[in-house]
Amino acid sequence: MPSTVGKVIRCKAAVAWEAGKPLVIEEVEVAPPQAMEVRVKIIVTALCHTDVYFWEAKGQTPVFPRIFGHEAAGIVESVGEGVTELKPGDHVLPVFTGECKECRHCKSEESNMCDLLRINTDRGVMLHDGKSRFSINGKPIYHFVGTSTFSEYSVIHVGCLAKINPAAPMDKVCILSCGVSTGLGATLNVAKPPRGSTVAIFGLGAVGLSAAEGARIAGASRIIGVDLNPKRFDEAKKFGVTEFVNPKDHHKPVQEVLTEMTDGGVDRSVECTGSINAMISAFECVHDGWGVAVLVGVPNKDDAFKTHPMNFLNEKTLKGTFFGNYKPRTDLPNVVEMYMRKELELEKFITHEVGLSDINKAFDYMLKGESLRCIIRTDG
Ligand SMILES: [Zn+2]
Ligand SMILES: [Zn+2]
Repeated sequence: MPSTVGKVIRCKAAVAWEAGKPLVIEEVEVAPPQAMEVRVKIIVTALCHTDVYFWEAKGQTPVFPRIFGHEAAGIVESVGEGVTELKPGDHVLPVFTGECKECRHCKSEESNMCDLLRINTDRGVMLHDGKSRFSINGKPIYHFVGTSTFSEYSVIHVGCLAKINPAAPMDKVCILSCGVSTGLGATLNVAKPPRGSTVAIFGLGAVGLSAAEGARIAGASRIIGVDLNPKRFDEAKKFGVTEFVNPKDHHKPVQEVLTEMTDGGVDRSVECTGSINAMISAFECVHDGWGVAVLVGVPNKDDAFKTHPMNFLNEKTLKGTFFGNYKPRTDLPNVVEMYMRKELELEKFITHEVGLSDINKAFDYMLKGESLRCIIRTDG
């Protein structure tokens, strides 16, 4: 095959022309990567709630036409000027937030909130020149969170690509690029449940079940799932959830129910719903003296967290996390290795699979609440 390096590539992509309207498979032109950019052949991508949220564009500035997609795995096709850490043929996971390795956040061992490449949902262009690398007949098609993986090829900043073990199956590890790492890291890196402890997980979607998977890996002996939808409970057992609480089944606040079930409170809790009331319950249900609650879900704009300060004086700890505290380039390759060593199970998250031409089906599965993760193969 003739080399595509330095040339425009014409390929298929799923374009969102308007908010809430089905995506359309189009032939797009993908420009070569500029300084610090990499052009990636996307092999497999997956649909996450964040794609659906910004596609619906109900609460934020709409940016259209746009190519969504941010959970994926692919192979480097070519690299732009200044890129030294990646070369054609490398296997990578694109990530919606980056690691420039030079800012004060990247240099801090405690932070993963890169100043340069932190998630930006309003920007639809590349940082280097403020332009899009996608076009149709010269008209720009905008990027999404720097990844735009619903395309056979995408151009991504090198700081938003984690280089992974080439032996790792891309149709499994692609889901580590967002949701699963977020929940897993919230438990393993932030809540850090001791072996034998009791962990409550609020919200049993893909992120909550990943948090449960983290608790299982950490050796928690009781994992209590809290969700308003009783249908979630059966599936959750596969992720190590041992007990279920549906707040609708009780007349008292769920934090009181959990406190009674656990002789004074859970050792750790992880909140993955984004509901402000669930956040408060997740904090108030932890044991005094040592309990730690971790917030993962994204709240509404006007929410305020209200609790009695005595809870803090009683030595309950409240924390929050972004992307499971993982630094994308430094840490994700190791999460892939956890899967390769069979410590972490990913197969159970993947409930559906479609080809790129059927991508709208993936949206339907998610909107109906049928799928945890639907993977999308770009060659189909
Ligand atoms: Zn940085
Ligand atoms: Zn996501």
